[in-house]
Amino acid sequence: MDSALTVHDPGYVAVRDGLVIAVGAVGGTIGHCPDSGFGEQPHPATTIDCTGCIVLPGLINCHTHLPMVAFRGLADDLPLMEWLTKHIWPAEARMLSPQFCRGATLLAAAECVRGGVTCVNDMYLFEAAIGDALEQAGLRGIIGEGVIKYPTPSAPDWRAGRVLTTDLLAQYTGHSLIEASVTCHAPYSCTPEILQAMHALACEYSALFHIHLHETHSEPAQIDWLRDAETPTAGLARLGVLGPRTLAAHCVWCNPDDIALLAEHRCGVAHDPQSNLKLASGVMPLTAMLDAGVAVGIATDGAASNNNLNLWEELQLAALLAKGAAHCAGTDGGLPLLDARAVPACQAVALATRDAARALGRRDIGTLAPGLRADICVVDTRAPHLQPRHPGAGSAYALLAYSAQSSDVRDVCVEGKLLMRGRQLLTLDADEAAARVQRMIRSGHQD
Ligand SMILES: [Zn+2]
Repeated sequence: MDSALTVHDPGYVAVRDGLVIAVGAVGGTIGHCPDSGFGEQPHPATTIDCTGCIVLPGLINCHTHLPMVAFRGLADDLPLMEWLTKHIWPAEARMLSPQFCRGATLLAAAECVRGGVTCVNDMYLFEAAIGDALEQAGLRGIIGEGVIKYPTPSAPDWRAGRVLTTDLLAQYTGHSLIEASVTCHAPYSCTPEILQAMHALACEYSALFHIHLHETHSEPAQIDWLRDAETPTAGLARLGVLGPRTLAAHCVWCNPDDIALLAEHRCGVAHDPQSNLKLASGVMPLTAMLDAGVAVGIATDGAASNNNLNLWEELQLAALLAKGAAHCAGTDGGLPLLDARAVPACQAVALATRDAARALGRRDIGTLAPGLRADICVVDTRAPHLQPRHPGAGSAYALLAYSAQSSDVRDVCVEGKLLMRGRQLLTLDADEAAARVQRMIRSGHQD
């Protein structure tokens, strides 16, 4: 799967020093990369037989809060603001610490790897501890300390949050696995001063600027700095904080003018369909975003509002909502826009791979092509629910988009290093991670 979504059947992927060096059809020569050193006859040190499998780029989760796996099932069936202010923020104030975030991230990382996820874009608190855990797991991550106008367990004020962000940027410059982002929680929880100062920091480091945006219908009323009739997206544009490395999460209530602004500023958007449905926030207008040329990637949001980190469910739901959720696609002469052709299977898979990388402003991941990072997911298609296989590329994408489950992922490799083989985790102990989180929950604080 390259940028044109080519399928080689049967095919191979050759990897060296953490990079893909060649991709092609079995029986062809490894001629795609003259510098591979493999010549006409490859002699790899390790060969993994993927007969009966589909080999694709690892999945990319464009927006999540990994340690929130610890709050899975804590409070459910509530709207966003009540869920946040009455349950999640109080639990975080009571329990969060670097140890808590590190331990919960190891559990989250195990869930990600078992589901074929090789890169996560995370926004949370004590993000240095989250970076440590991701390094231990070998999982690629973009990590951002959530800066907000209120005191948090990790920072007494937003300036302290900015210091933590600057530390992360310094620590991870040039790192092969971890990238630091600059992260503001949301337009309603940050002042214009905070938004502009943090965005300036992002520009200084060419870092991703990550923010929640227009998640709920009522969001404009919660932002005290918006002008009359101004939308949150237009407000951010006026402040000058939209740009090619801005990743806006949710964008459920963006109107056509907002979508045009996101496209004009070449922003990325994270689409979180399950979380948006569960919190009754709504359905993002995915087709309109794609038609406008906005780079959209798929995401889970945190596991407390989802309630898992399973990107297969998300990409399937994204495709189905785009086809059948007529109310969010608008109308055509009074008739609802129902369109079975909207977001076809290959597009759905791209939302979790190629397009997700684009949304994050990353050119080195998301497809399998020479010179890109060797982040790979192997899906075993021998189970009954993935049979049979019809000729042609369409069948492979249809299996991945509509039939595959996270438990079908057999092997995962990040930066050329195997993190799971034959469903055995090689860098993480999921049972130990789960037990540690359970102990932290029981003790009401840290391990
Ligand atoms: Zn979120």
